[in-house]
Amino acid sequence: MAIVDCSTPGQAKDDLRCDVAVVGSGCGGATAARVLAEGGRDVLVLEEGGDYVGPERLTQRDLPMYDQLYADRGSRTNADRTISVLSGRVLGGGGVINACDVVPVHPQTWRYWQNVHGLADWSPEAMAPFVAKALHDLEASPIPESMVNRNNQILREGAGALGLAGEVMHHNRVGCLGLGTCLIGCPAGAKRNPRMVAVPKALEAGARVVVRARVVSIQPGKDGEKTLLVRALDAKGYRETATFRVRCKRVVLAAGPVGTVSILRASGLGGAWLGRGLSLQPQVAVVARMKERVNAFDGIPQSYAVTAFERNDAARGLHGYRIEGIFGTPGILGSLVTQAGIAGKQAMAALPHVAACLVLVPDDPVGQITFPWSGGRRIDYTLADEWKSRAREAVRTAMRCYLAAGATEVLVACAPPIVVRSERELGLLDGLSFAPATIGLISAHQQGGTRVAVRAERGVCAPDGQVWGAAGVYVCDGGVFPSTSSTHTMAPILTVAHALAAGWLSAWRA
Ligand SMILES: Cc1cc2nc3c(=O)[nH]c(=O)nc-3n(C[C@H](O)[C@H](O)[C@H](O)COP(=O)(O)OP(=O)(O)OC[C@H]3O[C@@H](n4cnc5c(N)ncnc54)[C@H](O)[C@@H]3O)c2cc1C
Ligand code: SF4
Repeated sequence: MAIVDCSTPGQAKDDLRCDVAVVGSGCGGATAARVLAEGGRDVLVLEEGGDYVGPERLTQRDLPMYDQLYADRGSRTNADRTISVLSGRVLGGGGVINACDVVPVHPQTWRYWQNVHGLADWSPEAMAPFVAKALHDLEASPIPESMVNRNNQILREGAGALGLAGEVMHHNRVGCLGLGTCLIGCPAGAKRNPRMVAVPKALEAGARVVVRARVVSIQPGKDGEKTLLVRALDAKGYRETATFRVRCKRVVLAAGPVGTVSILRASGLGGAWLGRGLSLQPQVAVVARMKERVNAFDGIPQSYAVTAFERNDAARGLHGYRIEGIFGTPGILGSLVTQAGIAGKQAMAALPHVAACLVLVPDDPVGQITFPWSGGRRIDYTLADEWKSRAREAVRTAMRCYLAAGATEVLVACAPPIVVRSERELGLLDGLSFAPATIGLISAHQQGGTRVAVRAERGVCAPDGQVWGAAGVYVCDGGVFPSTSSTHTMAPILTVAHALAAGWLSAWRA
């Protein structure tokens, strides 16, 4: 069966039936759908976004691509608007718009979840085969030296001059042309993401896929059956055009933490922990002005990471920080420029001479998705003081790297910007307050909100992903992590999706 688009004129939105309905088609949903379909289950995938593949649909134009590929058209933020909460809304989910970095869960983080959170089946040994499956799906490989662009080389040179350890990252690209627009989709089809791997494999195995289909809630039916209430959307996903129902035995929610929590909430499921334990893993942009022409927009945007300060410890899991070269399209960069008027114009005109990175500072899961009024959803997230001091330290290290690499000035994009021209001026960073409305942070790795726990009083899902107190309703996205999984979440989510779906196949057979 081909992919059915609810917005196609004349397309019937008849009520549907299946064994397993999978809601969302990102790293978690597409992987689960594929494993379950290959295991002989009758699977139906429901995806709110549209299908975007190839150069005619992935046009490399900021506005239409943000509009069509990102949740809330890229405008989702936390309640105090300090953090831009980015995620995908397209067939294939976040994998379609991500930076292709492959960073599996560190063995010590698995061990931390096993020992501190009591997740016996999440040991590094038990997860090893699923890590291997995830890396195989991604065709993970080291980024070739020849594709480390000048932007990332500058960070590497600076770190090297300071004696800091780092690495060229692994990625999931095959046949990359270095066009540089990964964050608004790859027109060359070089990403081995869920849209290019798991979705075709699920279809091959007989799964059905329906796009422009927004799931609203799950209602109980007869004999344990469930009914999903679904809204068909128009071609751009702006308006709801019809309502239909899907009857199924089991539901796998994989709509990302915000989407999954919203559906559970609308269904009256999930208990006291629903929405809690949210990690946003905010990132801070640091920008350097170089004498040379960097042309950071050419080539793979993110390929080198300074890893010297990244830590995994037995008592709290992933900690410390890392620094990664990055560049975006003009629209993304423009949204981070805090200067107004002529100064803002000059900042944009200087882009060819700019090098940039993001400091990635793992957080404790202190956030919460709440529903303060009927139909209203809010992401509450207050930056912890300990996180702020670690982030300040990370920014200081990034600035030192750029100064060592010959930058004429380095700034952190806050209002007013903090500009540093020599090591002597690094003390200015003490004024980096992270107060709301003074800085724009980025979250690309939302996790938690439906965390797994060994007891219902400590989480939303049991370790097998089934929602406590809701037989037949499962979660399979970044929401299940009890704390931050990795500095990058694609490989971890694929890993856990493989593990959970394999477990369901055996449990349902029994
Ligand atoms: C800009 C950006 C860059 C990133 N870079 C990297 C990187 O380089 N490496 C890395 O490892 N990770 C990266 N990530 C993170 C990674 O891509 C995500 O963590 C991962 O894709 C999340 O997978 P998921 O299955 O949890 O959810 P998603 O991929 O978000 O999938 C959820 C899907 O559910 C759909 N949905 C939501 N609500 C509904 C509903 N009600 N009904 C039907 N469908 C619904 C959405 O449209 C979406 O397609 C990046 C993320 C972003 C946003
Ligand atoms: S850099 Fe490579 S993977 Fe990214 S958009 Fe360009 S061709 Fe695609």
